[in-house]
Amino acid sequence: MTEIRLKIKQRFANTFKSGSPLILKEAIGNLDKLKEEGSLLYLEDEKGDFLGRGYYGRQNKGFGWVLTQKPNEQINQRFFEHRISKALTKRSAFFEDVNTTAFRVLNGEGDGIGGLTIDYFDGYFLLNWYSEGIYTFKEQVVAALKKVTAFKGIYEKKRFNTGGKYIDDDDFVAGERGDFPILVKENGVNFAVYLNDGAMVGVFLDQREVRRSIRDKYANGKRVLNTFSYTGAFSIFAAIGGAEKTTSVDLANRSYEKTIEQFSVNGLDYEAHDIIVQDVFDYYKFSVKKGFTFDVVILDPPSFARSKKKTFSAEKDYKDLLKQTIAITEKKGVIVASTNAAKVSRKKFKHFIDAAFKESGEKYKLLEEHSLPADFAVAPQFPDGDYLKVVFIQKV
Ligand code: SAH
Repeated sequence: MTEIRLKIKQRFANTFKSGSPLILKEAIGNLDKLKEEGSLLYLEDEKGDFLGRGYYGRQNKGFGWVLTQKPNEQINQRFFEHRISKALTKRSAFFEDVNTTAFRVLNGEGDGIGGLTIDYFDGYFLLNWYSEGIYTFKEQVVAALKKVTAFKGIYEKKRFNTGGKYIDDDDFVAGERGDFPILVKENGVNFAVYLNDGAMVGVFLDQREVRRSIRDKYANGKRVLNTFSYTGAFSIFAAIGGAEKTTSVDLANRSYEKTIEQFSVNGLDYEAHDIIVQDVFDYYKFSVKKGFTFDVVILDPPSFARSKKKTFSAEKDYKDLLKQTIAITEKKGVIVASTNAAKVSRKKFKHFIDAAFKESGEKYKLLEEHSLPADFAVAPQFPDGDYLKVVFIQKV
C-alpha cells in the first residue's frame, strides 16, 4: 500500500520527535489527504523532517497512531510479529504463573500498536479493535499471532464506528471455538468468561491487584458492599478473603445470574450473600432509611452512565457518590474508590475525596493506591493511557 505523506504542523513536531504516539487531528496540516481508514502514513514536519510511520484510524482520542519512529521500518506482517512477540516476552512471568491465566498481552500504544489490545484467557486470545483503521490490519495481526505463538482460538471485539462501542457480531476469528463459559484463574480464583457474548466478557482484568488486596488485607470478617458490581468480581474476592457477607448492587438485570455464576464456579454459597438488582443511588437511600452500614464499600462506577432517572458522570458526580458512601460506612471502615474516567486525573480524584470528607465533616486516611498493573503497559510519552486510579481510604 502506498503511504500518504502527512504534514505535521511545526508546533507539534517536537511531541512526535520525543515519541508521542497519538496523531491528533489538530496536528495535521493536510487533512484533505486522509481518505480511507487504514491508510499508511509517513509523517513529516513542515521542514520535511521524518517524524514517524503510522496509520489513519479515527478513535475518540485522535486520528491515528504512530507505529514506528525508525525511518527504515515498514508496517507489514513482520512488524506485527515483532511487536507481538516482544509483548508476549514481556509477559513471560504471567504465562508461567498457573494461578493467573487471564491477563493483557498487548496494550495498544503501550506495546507499540495504538488502537489494538490483546487479552489472553487460558489459551484464547481476544483482540479489541478500536478503529476501522486498525481493523484493516486484521489479517496481518492474526497471521502474526499464528506465527509467533500457539493458542486454542482467537476472538475479537470491534469497538469502532459507534464511538468506541462494541459492534454486535459473531466474534470468532480463528483456531477452535471455545465452549463458553471457559474458566480462567486470577490469583487462584476462578472466573467464568464468555468471549462470544457481547462487549463484556465477565471480568475487567485491570483491577487484578485491587481484588487481591481486598481479599488479602481488607475483607476478613467484614461486611462488604460492592456497588456497580457487574459480575461481582470484587465480591468473590472479598468472600474468599473471609468477608462476613458481601452485598453486590448493580442495576443491570443480567448481573444477578452472572454474579451467582461467579460465586458458584468458586464453590461459594451465593445464598449467604446479597445480590441486588437496583440503582446504587436508590440502594443508598434505602440503606440510610434502614440504618444499614458497611465496613468496606467498593466504588467502581462507569465514567458515564445513563439510567432511567438520571445520568452519572464521574467528573460531575463522583464527589457526591463519595459523600453518600461516607454516610453508610462505619468508623474505621474502608472505601475503595476507583475511576477510569479520562477527565478525572489522580489529582482531581484525590481532591474529590478530600472535599467529600470535608463536606461530610469526617476525617480520613489514605491507605493505598493503585494504577494499571504491569500487563497494561503504558507508553511513557503517552501518560493519558494510564487511566486507572484506585484509592483505598479509611474513615477515621
Ligand atoms: N465494578 C465492576 C465493573 C463495573 S462496570 C467489576 O469490577 O467487575 C459498570 C457497571 O455499573 C455495569 O454493570 C452497569 O450495569 C452498572 N451501573 C451503571 N449505572 C448504575 C447505577 N446507577 N446503579 C447501579 N449500577 C449501575
